[in-house]
Amino acid sequence: MWPSLRCINCHAPAFYRRIYEGTTFCKACFREDIEEKIRRTITKYDLLRFDDHLAVAVSGGKDSLALLTMLKKIERRFPHAKITAITVDEGIDGYRAESMWLAQKTCRDLNVDHHKVGFQDLFGQTLDEIVKTHRELTPCSYCGVLRRRALQVAARDVGASKIATGHNLDDEAQTLLLNIFHGDVARIIRSGTILEGRNCGFLPRIKPASEILEQELALYAYTSGIEFQTTPCPYLAPALRNDMRQMLNKLEVKHPGTKFTVLRSIERIRSSMDKASFKTNYDHCSKCGEPSSGDFCEVCRILNKPPLPVSNE
Ligand code: SF4
Ligand code: ZN
Repeated sequence: MWPSLRCINCHAPAFYRRIYEGTTFCKACFREDIEEKIRRTITKYDLLRFDDHLAVAVSGGKDSLALLTMLKKIERRFPHAKITAITVDEGIDGYRAESMWLAQKTCRDLNVDHHKVGFQDLFGQTLDEIVKTHRELTPCSYCGVLRRRALQVAARDVGASKIATGHNLDDEAQTLLLNIFHGDVARIIRSGTILEGRNCGFLPRIKPASEILEQELALYAYTSGIEFQTTPCPYLAPALRNDMRQMLNKLEVKHPGTKFTVLRSIERIRSSMDKASFKTNYDHCSKCGEPSSGDFCEVCRILNKPPLPVSNE
């Protein structure tokens, strides 16, 4: 609480101070402001059609549950729209069960259909099993590729027209800087608040929370009484992204608004790039039939490498 400060809207005692804007809010006006930001992002990037069936990726964490709660409120104004929540069970012992339960509970409270999809069913093995025998990549790299596929398959199965994910401003700023570090121009062009995919056989992906700070999304979830998972995944390891997160957080404290500046800069760079020269032609994977830019899709490439011998230690 900031007792000496007042909410800029209703003049009640302030509860939150947004430093980069110099604004202060009471709890109710803060929540209303976050919801309005989501609505503005949706309008600005034309993320939703009146009759979209949105598959919302719900992990059970704060970002996805806050997004689902807000989209459900927005959906009420669109009688022809529909929302289905999708939770991917990677098969991580001691971790996924809690978040699955939390996702289920929120969906029940919000009256949203909940669809579950598991690595075991789709790929014949859990992430725990995959990382024991496949060690060329980090667990998160396997998880990321397989989860993207699982989401696409599940969203198609429920008849969705788009996939919404809970990526926030911090995620976006980190990813954009990581792409620059890796010199990954194609990814810089492909990333953004809306990722078109229809022409390549993928469902479009949208990120309505991409202009909201992670701490504000967490605060929204907390003040809305949303129960979310706080236990970190056991595979979460120190990686370049973590250093990027810490660096951006330090810069944000010293220079409020830095994360927005990164987002806006990349948007300008992206709009001035020659997209045609980075266009990827998609066909179908010779093994699984899913869209692929080469003979084999990324999922088949990473899973079909000969497994390493299991150690007897
Ligand atoms: Fe998957 Fe890595 Fe996230 Fe764990 S931390 S859920 S392994 S991406
Ligand atoms: Zn394939």
